[in-house]
Amino acid sequence: MKGLIVVDMQKDFCYPEGALYGGDRVYGVIKPLVRFIDAFRTSGDEVIYTMDWHREDDVEFKIWPSHCIEHSEGAEIVEELKPEKNDFVVKKRKYTAFFGTDLDMFLREKNIEEIYLAGVLANICVLHTAADAVLRGYNVTVVKDCIEALSDYDLEYALRHMENILKCEIVESEEILKK
Ligand code: ZN
Repeated sequence: MKGLIVVDMQKDFCYPEGALYGGDRVYGVIKPLVRFIDAFRTSGDEVIYTMDWHREDDVEFKIWPSHCIEHSEGAEIVEELKPEKNDFVVKKRKYTAFFGTDLDMFLREKNIEEIYLAGVLANICVLHTAADAVLRGYNVTVVKDCIEALSDYDLEYALRHMENILKCEIVESEEILKK
């Protein structure tokens, strides 16, 4: 069984009015993701969403401006990618979607060993989630055109790290959909 993890495609990161909007390049991930998520649902594989989910006094706001406050509109998944009834949604406080969440339990219950990773930001929550997944023994494929960062540099180093150090497969969504 395969699982697609869609990382933090939330209004605060993806919409221009969001608290930590990542710009056109982040907004641009929505379109290829719509198609990719659709294909996953059609094939009966699991679609998992992560949501950055903070209290107003979260320690992370010593590093970043306030964002994704629990139950706020900015914390919602973008309208284009709304989770469906059977999708699994993980609320997280840290960069990795595994820490302090039941993601690992869910994946094991569903016998998911192959993880596809997409979303934002490539060098922060995607990278940390990839590392955590690899260390736990999952096979991780990163969907190259469905991740983004705030700059070419950040995207490049995230991809290099995931490919060379974590030994993730880096593949375009088109290639995966052809299979
Ligand atoms: Zn955060």
